[in-house]
Parts: sequence; C-alpha cells; structure tokens
Amino acid sequence: MTLVFATHNPNKLKEIQSLLPDIIQLKSLTDIGCTEDIIEDAQTLEGNALLKARYVKNKYGLDCFADDTGLEVEALDGEPGVFSARYAGEQKNASDNMAKLLDALKDLQNRKARFKTVIALCLNDKEHTFEGVCNGSITDEKMGESGFGYDPVFKPETYTETFAQMPLALKNEIGHRGKAFQKLVGFLKNQELQQNK
Ligand code: IMP
Repeated sequence: MTLVFATHNPNKLKEIQSLLPDIIQLKSLTDIGCTEDIIEDAQTLEGNALLKARYVKNKYGLDCFADDTGLEVEALDGEPGVFSARYAGEQKNASDNMAKLLDALKDLQNRKARFKTVIALCLNDKEHTFEGVCNGSITDEKMGESGFGYDPVFKPETYTETFAQMPLALKNEIGHRGKAFQKLVGFLKNQELQQNK
C-alpha cells in the first residue's frame, strides 16, 4: 500500500516510515512530483491539514496524510495558533516570532500554552483526523539551543527544561507531534490487520 505524507522533508518521511510495517510504503510530495506550493489558508489546524491531504488525493488520486501544528497561548485567546509560522510576519522567522510572543506576554501572569498537532488522513473514500497535544507554559526568556520554532520558550508541563534544552528523543516522546503520529501509526497498523484477516 502506497501512502503519501504531504511533506518535502526526507527526514520526517524516514522517521515515520520506520514506525510503520513494510507493507505501507510512504512517499513524499517530492517523490510524487508535487512541487507546487499548497496554499494553507484555512482558519484552523484541522482545516489546513485536511486541505493538504485532500489536494493530493484529488490531484494525484493517492491516499495521503498531512499535518499542521500551532502554539496556542491561553492569555492570547489561543494565538498564534494556526498562524504560528508567520506570527511576526511573512518572513516566518523563529526569532521574530519568539520576540513578538515574549513581548505580548511581558506583563501577564498567565503563561499557560499548548502545542497542538492535527494530522488529516484521506484513505480510500474516507477522511480521518488525529490530534496530539502537549500542555506547558511560555518562559520569560529564551532557554536552550536545540530544536526549532518556539522550542526555546516552551516548557512542557512537569519539566524544568524547555523543548530546546531536552534531547530530541524526549521531545518526541512527550510532544504534540509524536503523540499525533503515534495515533496515526496505531490506526494504520490496525487497518492492515483488518485487511489481512
Ligand atoms: P508546521 O505546521 O509543522 O509547519 O508548524 C507551524 C509552525 O509552528 C512552525 O513554523 C513553528 O513556528 C511552530 N512549531 C511547530 N511545531 C513546533 C515544535 O515542535 N516546536 C516549536 N515550534 C513548533
């Protein structure tokens, strides 16, 4: 069974492929010749994930899954949310985004935030979604060097380090994306079992 993961990132593809039985062969957007930019203009994470998965299903006739992630800050009514990548502008710069976020929260006590990943899967004639959430808080300043995006300012609940201060394996285990992908992988393995009965 061939399944497209709507990403151009070969590392992301490899990582998920290694969690799946060999019978499921993942292909990236590059692998299927999809070089155009899929415009992500939905107002929700679920909407954007569905939009990408449906685009591939409709244009290429291939089963596909896509993910979308956002940082939701309680005191900012869930912002930056679906706009996390371009919170400080279209340059999509992580330092600018973090500076804007720390500034927006500078006089606020409530630092609660969560990362949310939604994965949308178009499989045969059905659509499914899977969600992973990681609760935590926004620090007063950047801490740590590893990771990407908002990692230096996000401290997961019950941990004393930010995502940018912890090993990647731990981030994957407790993080939003890892949790959503675990659900997807469980679902796909189950589908395989049903088909082989
Ligand atoms: P995407 O949907 O995975 O492209 O994520 C959208 C934006 O959310 C990214 O550009 C980052 O700013 C932010 N983001 C997503 N995942 C993470 C994460 O694991 N750590 C920090 N920031 C993230």
